[in-house]
Parts: sequence; structure tokens; C-alpha cells
Amino acid sequence: MRGKMDRDTPIIELKGVGEKTRQLFARLNIFTVGELLDHYPRDYEIFRDPVPILRAAVGEVCAVRGTVTGILNERRVRKLHILNVNISDGSETMQLTFYNMPFLKKTLKQGVIYIFRGNVQTRGKWKIMEQPRVYSKEDYTRQENTLIPRYSLTRGLTNQAVQKAVKQALSCCQPPEEYYGKDFLESNGLMGIGDAAEAIHFPKDMDQLVRARQRLVFDEFFSFLFLMRQNKEFSDGLENPYPMFETADTVRFLEQLSFPLTRAQKRVWGEIRDDLGSPHCMNRLIQGDVGSGKTVLAVLALLMTAANGYQGALMAPTEVLAAQHFETILEYTKKMGLIFRPVLLIGSMTAKEKREAYEKIASGEANLIIGTHALIQAKVRYKALALVVTDEQHRFGVRQREQLAQKGDKPHILVMSATPIPRTLAIILYGDLHISVVDELPANRLPIKNCVVNTSYRGKAYEFIGKEVKAGRQAYVICPQVEEGEAEDLENVVDYAEKLREHLSPDIQVAYLHGKMRPADKNRIMEEFAAHTIDVLVSTTVIEVGINVPNATVMMVENAERFGLAQLHQLRGRVGRGEHQSFCIFVSTKENKETMERLQILNKSNDGFFIASEDLKMRGPGDLFGIRQSGVFSFRIGDIYNDAALLQKAAAAMDELMLRDRTLSLPEHGLIRKHLEEAAANSVDFRSI
Ligand code: ADP
Ligand code: MG
Repeated sequence: MRGKMDRDTPIIELKGVGEKTRQLFARLNIFTVGELLDHYPRDYEIFRDPVPILRAAVGEVCAVRGTVTGILNERRVRKLHILNVNISDGSETMQLTFYNMPFLKKTLKQGVIYIFRGNVQTRGKWKIMEQPRVYSKEDYTRQENTLIPRYSLTRGLTNQAVQKAVKQALSCCQPPEEYYGKDFLESNGLMGIGDAAEAIHFPKDMDQLVRARQRLVFDEFFSFLFLMRQNKEFSDGLENPYPMFETADTVRFLEQLSFPLTRAQKRVWGEIRDDLGSPHCMNRLIQGDVGSGKTVLAVLALLMTAANGYQGALMAPTEVLAAQHFETILEYTKKMGLIFRPVLLIGSMTAKEKREAYEKIASGEANLIIGTHALIQAKVRYKALALVVTDEQHRFGVRQREQLAQKGDKPHILVMSATPIPRTLAIILYGDLHISVVDELPANRLPIKNCVVNTSYRGKAYEFIGKEVKAGRQAYVICPQVEEGEAEDLENVVDYAEKLREHLSPDIQVAYLHGKMRPADKNRIMEEFAAHTIDVLVSTTVIEVGINVPNATVMMVENAERFGLAQLHQLRGRVGRGEHQSFCIFVSTKENKETMERLQILNKSNDGFFIASEDLKMRGPGDLFGIRQSGVFSFRIGDIYNDAALLQKAAAAMDELMLRDRTLSLPEHGLIRKHLEEAAANSVDFRSI
């Protein structure tokens, strides 16, 4: 069987994958067998030993062993058949509810021991499970302690179907060839790539899973670092092709601005100004927590660029964010009579609009270009591009810089980020960039009030949102998934918006937003929210980065336990951006002590880096899979917080390799080089959300 297919084989050639399934996979961007194998599980289900009912933790998926002691009742509500039974494990009892499974009344034999596995909840003083899976003792024992992969899905595609397809793909493909040498594997303690590629889907045990994941994360970091090194060589010691002088424009802008800069903003502005006038090309990272006011620093740098007769570009990771920046700067320009002649350039514009933008850019009529990565595509010709600012963008990689360089001289680079990372990691991740830190929030901010609650608080939360909206404010509600069916038991944006409309008074405008919507629709919704024609926005984490609607004062996050704290902190950063008191409501469906304690960290601190590192301390290796700390860095499997140690290891290994064979031209490095070059070619530098 092995070797019958390769990574480029279309998945329709897999048994059991017909046209319908092919289309479902296409929605997940999976077209080939290789892409299927790279669709790593989201997390893993572990069939742990059954626990006594007494110890079954509420809010957790548990298995309990018990016998049926009686049918409590059986009824029909419209089309729904409901069966309630009692079970007991000798000391304690539990109530089970089954929907549309009338046959169980006969098949569940009284007196026989079964294993029931499901989410433990309470009804009054009873522990209950709804729709648990039922296993015979033998069946359960067979699965006990194995890890079952759980994949990201789409409506209509079952986890079972993905599992089967992956299993087949693994058995029909040659395992990938090892590219590292034996010594390299050994000294870095890495599992072979063939084993890792298989074990990430079907691990024998936790230990094997951890090792497989380590190998894949190491590889991901390693190829990223390779790109970084190339980049460093490219940009080291570049002379400043666009020397600039300070003009009255920036001074006047600051005078007219409705607020004074914070001390931190002033300091960083000083550093940028010096760079732009220095003999070397600027390569600077501005790190500043959410709401610290980085945008105005970008505006200042771009203004200085325009005043010196050059063009500047501001690049954002999403269209929504690009459009927001465009509006903000357009307003400044009009109000203060700035010298900007801005154009917007995003993928969802019509061909005609794009053509007009290209012309303005090429002729120099536009001196400020704002957009997504559309800015650096081949069709765009600049007249005199001297500065590129990337907002919330971490992977402004080699290829982008090369693409830009082809458009003329090497521009100054300014990268802005709200992802809190310690300096040691920043140096590895950003290599060649100088780092400025905006370590102070504007003084007019009231601290955000937080609360962590369970789902029974929802009614009150809706009431509260209603009150804030009446007072003229706006609210966000975040759900972890787009539509029903991607994962069980999680709130989804589409249904939630519907539910919320029913709960809130009819004059409150509720809309939803998620990453799978057409870009133009996303932009429209976001504009309407900014213009306050929408009061409550139900959204996935697409709004996580950058969005600035200072009138929004409530951030409610459903299934908060599913998110990394650093990510929750980013979400929280969407409120508290103006003068009004803001509120954050984290709703957790899990009520166990650890989850609550973890979420409570958000209550204690507003310091993004402190939060991320505390989160890490509280969690063991078993937690590594379900939660990603931050959606901002676009690593596919690696996570800079959770895998900081591996990142450091990969960096050390890269240093050593470069020292021995900088061009990777030794014969023993042939395979590594081939692998790294392929990885570089395939790396997607921009998150497409
Ligand atoms: P971020 O650093 O998260 O990108 P923004 O640049 O979007 O933050 O700024 C958040 C809000 O704070 C904006 O509405 C901005 O106008 C405002 N702001 C920025 N600097 C100051 C300041 N020094 N004083 C008061 N408000 C400020
Ligand atoms: Mg920002």
C-alpha cells in the first residue's frame, strides 16, 4: 500500500472520500493528501479510567462505571424522545438523559455493569449526564488510556470521517524522508520525522504524542529561524537610502492632537525620528500592550516620511484593520490639514478601484498607502517607497522584504506588536530588529472591571449589556466557533447572535462577524459597528487584534476556558479604549477549580506578559494541545509561550549549523538545505483570517 500515493495526490482518491466529502474538506483548505496529513488534531480525547460517581467533576468529561437501577421516565416533546434513567455504582447515583434513543430502554440491561462517558453536570442536587456514550466493560477497557485525535471540522464533516481519511493517507503514503543527520537528531533529542508525522495523528500514548509534537514544533521554528537568518544577512548594514529631516508637520500634528503623548510614546517617537535621520536603514520593532497608543506613532513616522517627499505604507494583517486605519488617518488628515494623500489597497476592492489605486501609487499622487499584503504584490509599483510600517504583524518575512526591495531601494521598516514576549524571545523571533517598548498606558483610562462567571450568569450579563447600550455604549460577545458542528459543546457565532436577539430588546441592533465571511462583508460590519449602527457585535476572535472602537465598553467571552490567557488579554484590550468605564465578562462552562483559578489571573493583572507567563506556570504538558496562547503569531503548531524552550533550542541549533556551514553547501547538509528551502517557499507569512 505504501507509496501508492504521495503528498500531491488529490484526496478524492482516498477510499470513502467522494465528491461531497471532497467539498467539505475543501472548506478546510484541504485538497491533497499532504494537506490532510498536515491537518494536525486540535486536541486529543483520552479515555481515562472510570471514576466513582462521587468524584466525577462537574463540568468535565468523565467515565463512570455503574448499573442501571431503573427507568425514571420516558416522554416525548414534539419530535424529541427523552429517556431518563438512574444508575448507581453502589455508593452514589446519577441521572442520565438520552435523546432520541428509545431502543436503549431495552438494550440497557438492569444489573449489568456499563461504562458511561459524558459531560458531568448538575440538576438540583443530582449529578447528571446528557447523552453519554455507553460502553460495555470490555469495549471501554480496549480504548482505555488511548488518545483519540479530534480535528477541526466543518458542518457535515465528522471527526470519524477525518480520522478514517488520515489513517488511510498514512498507510498509502511513503513516510517523509529524514532530513536531519543522526547526530543532529540525537543532540537535540528529536524523534524521527516519519514517526512524528504518524504519531501526531495516532499516538500510542501521551509520551509519544509529546515527543512527536516536539519534533514538529522544532521543525517549524527551525525553518522560521532559517528565514530570519537570511533576512538578517540581507538587512545588516544597509545604508539609509532615504535620509529624513524633521519638519514642522509632525510638531503641528502633535499640537493639534486632542491628547498629549505619554512619556513612553514620546521616547519611542524620539527613537524612530533618530533612526529615520541616521546613516542606517531603520529596522525597528515597537512593542506595546494593547491600548498603549501605537497607531499614533505610526502616523508620526509616516507623516515625517511624507513631509520629506517620500511614500510610506501601512500594512495590516486583516482588511478590517486596514480599513480602520484608513478611516482614522483620513479623519486626522481632514481635521488637521495634514499633507497626507492616502489611498487604501485591499483585496476585496473591485478591479477598477485597484487600478486607480495602482496609478496613484505609481505616479506618486498617493504619498500614504494603507492596506493588507496586497500592498506588496507584483502589480504595485511605487514611486519612492521609503517606509513600511506593519501593524500587529509578526511574520514580515524575508520574502516580503525581497519583494519590496525589488520595487526600489530598501525601505525603512517599522513593526508594531502587542504580543507580550520577553526580551530573550523577542531577540530570537525578531533577530535583526531594534526594540522599542511603549510601557505606559494613556492616563485617562479607567481600569477595566473584570468578572469570571459560570453560564448561569448569562441572563444578568444580557441585562447588563442592555443597560450599557441604553446608555449609548456598545458591546462585543466572543464565541469560539463560527457555526455549529466544528466542535461539540462550544458556542458558535451564528446561533448565538440569533439567541441574543431574542434576549435583548428588539431595538438593540445585533450583528455577527467571523473569519469565513467575505472580506467585503467583514469590512461592512466592522464599519457599521464603528459608526454605531450596530450595538452588539457577536464575533469570533477575528476582532482580536487592533480593532479600536473606543465607545465599546463590554467584552463578554463565551467558553473563556478555551482560550489562552494572552489571547483573552488581547480580547479584553478591545474595550477600555476611551473615557468610559469598561467591563469584561468571562463566561466559563467549566467550573473546576483550576479553570477558575486560571481565569482569575486576568483579574489580578493587566500586564500582558505577566499573564502569559502565569498561565504557563499553571498548566502541565497535558494542557498543551487544547489551548493556544495567542492567535497572533502564525505558527501552525508551535506556540511561542508554551514552546519557548524549544524555540531556544532551535535557535541554538541554527546558530551552530550556520557557524559550521553558513551556506549549507556541505554534502551532509544537502537534505537539510532542500527541506529548509522547501519550507521557506511554502511558508505563508500572512495570516489570512
Ligand atoms: P494600540 O497600541 O493597541 O494600537 P491605539 O493606537 O489603537 O492602541 O490607541 C488606542 C486608543 O487610545 C485610540 O483611541 C487612541 O486615539 C488613544 N490614545 C493614543 N495615545 C493616547 C494618549 N497619549 N492619551 C490618550 N489617548 C491616547
Ligand atoms: Mg493597534
